[in-house]
Amino acid sequence: MSLLKHLFSKPLATQLTITSSNGFHLRPVAQFSSLAKSFPCKITATFQKKTVDAKSVNTLLSLSLEKEDTFTLQIQGKKSEEAREALVTLFETLMQTDIQIKKSVKTASDYEGSLIEGDIIYEGIAIAPVYHYARKEVQHKTNVSFKEALQYSINELEDLYLLHKKEDNATIYLAQKELLASLGEKSESLTNLEQIIVQEADTLLGTKLESKRADYQDILQRVKKHLGLEIKVTFPNKPFILLSNDLLPSEIDALSETQVLGVILQETSIHSHAAILLRAAGIASLIAETKNISQNTPLILDSHAGVVLCTPSANDLQKATLRLEQDVNQNALSASKRFDLAATIQGKEIKVLANVGDLNSARVAKEEGAEGIGLLRSEFLFKANKPSFETQQKAYREIFSFFDDITVRTLDVGGDKALPYIEIPVENNPFLGVRGVRLFTTHPELLEEQLHAIFMAAGEKHIKIMFPMVSSVEEFTQAKAFAQNIAKKHRLDISHIDFGIMIEVPSVLFLLEDFNKVVDFYSIGTNDLSQYLFAIERTHPTLKVDALSPVLFSAIDMIRQKATKPVSICGELAANKAAIEKLVHLGIETLSVSPKSIAQTKEFIRHV
Ligand code: PEP
Ligand code: MG
Repeated sequence: MSLLKHLFSKPLATQLTITSSNGFHLRPVAQFSSLAKSFPCKITATFQKKTVDAKSVNTLLSLSLEKEDTFTLQIQGKKSEEAREALVTLFETLMQTDIQIKKSVKTASDYEGSLIEGDIIYEGIAIAPVYHYARKEVQHKTNVSFKEALQYSINELEDLYLLHKKEDNATIYLAQKELLASLGEKSESLTNLEQIIVQEADTLLGTKLESKRADYQDILQRVKKHLGLEIKVTFPNKPFILLSNDLLPSEIDALSETQVLGVILQETSIHSHAAILLRAAGIASLIAETKNISQNTPLILDSHAGVVLCTPSANDLQKATLRLEQDVNQNALSASKRFDLAATIQGKEIKVLANVGDLNSARVAKEEGAEGIGLLRSEFLFKANKPSFETQQKAYREIFSFFDDITVRTLDVGGDKALPYIEIPVENNPFLGVRGVRLFTTHPELLEEQLHAIFMAAGEKHIKIMFPMVSSVEEFTQAKAFAQNIAKKHRLDISHIDFGIMIEVPSVLFLLEDFNKVVDFYSIGTNDLSQYLFAIERTHPTLKVDALSPVLFSAIDMIRQKATKPVSICGELAANKAAIEKLVHLGIETLSVSPKSIAQTKEFIRHV
């Protein structure tokens, strides 16, 4: 009866529009169809009268969906409501977090030799002879059947995905796994798989996804390897610049082990997985037409300027060597720019503040170019003994004197942070127990002394006070009222002090409309927010939260959309190179990072 009910139920239809400039390409498609597969209902996608199974990567890819295309997702059968909700949420996250890879702006060059121009994959200078990439197929004996080889390859890609899960590139392996699983299902032999792969890859010719043809070749190669058909590649054991039509994603790992100085590819795009991996490996690389350059020709690859020079003159060699030296000094240079403001390529300024714990780290933050203190972890100020009111006041005053922009957090003790002079009863789950703002109820005398010392140290300075671990609006209003009463008791005017909260507990995400009415600012503590979103203790020895999980970015996006007060980020994510571009795109304008990460964080921002 219920089966019949599902069979004849009306399908749920939802229109989804591609908003990413990269289109609906392999990696997001793989994540989408992987989720679709987990539901028992029938799920299809229709675009321009073509309807395909949305559970299969390659059929979904064959719609060649590009930015602004709208397709209809149709879901019918058991759990269709659930499937729709999950898929729509994932789709929105994928679109928001799929950052467009911009063409790098070429710097001017003044070489005298004739130049071959190209598109920049990763900026740098390489001076070395040419090495043409050559693949040689070698057959080994093996008893492995085609189906076994298929399964081994799928397992291998799954392992690679898990191994690289913390990196931005991990989804490449997931995408390849899904692709191989869906194409392999229809194949009975290697020849069969090869035919299907050629056919499918050809449908991408002339589309925006053309560069993803390399992924098809790559998965085929992987299956072949398990069948004993190994591709042998040799590299020179001296520095070289590699020239090739394209590189398979799996070949870039091997390349990183060689003395390669630069890579020039002909048939790829800056969005290809090879390009993503070359950038991750930090290899100077370019896309340029270099077919006619013979083996061992001396070459200059200047991918700042996006050019290649064959058999360069002594003058040009000197210029390139100079630029290379400049690159080598880049780190030192970024350190020297640490006092400059950080602005994106389009000129959007991002404030970079410091997370500090004591006087010394505040001093280091100043030397490292911080624009202020975004988080003063006051629980680290006095670790051994309970400080007197006077000692506290003096310490705060000294720290406050370094900057104009100061955010001090009230004691965040509990969980993994204990202080010998603060007694908290033993709890089964300390991370879910008395911690942060909850100390206002259990240890009011300590908080009273701390707040009084902060007020006295601030004087007329416009500082911000932030409460940690807030999970309800009442907790905030009560803590603020507590602070105001202390000021009243000591006849202190604190009307110039702002009060805000750390966003660390997921409940806050659902209460933002109410919080907007009472707080002056928010600071997202991604370390704790991640632990509470995934129910994985931040100190757990084996379980780890994916630092770059789309869930976290969705949460940040939700906060940004709903918050009407300033939002900053002070968790570890704020200094993560792979996250900064996304955070800036989500509209985050203030990052607070450890003092030693300031120069680098500013430099990352300058490349967004
Ligand atoms: C956080 O939770 O992200 C944070 C910055 O606070 P702490 O690491 O001190 O708990
Ligand atoms: Mg925290």
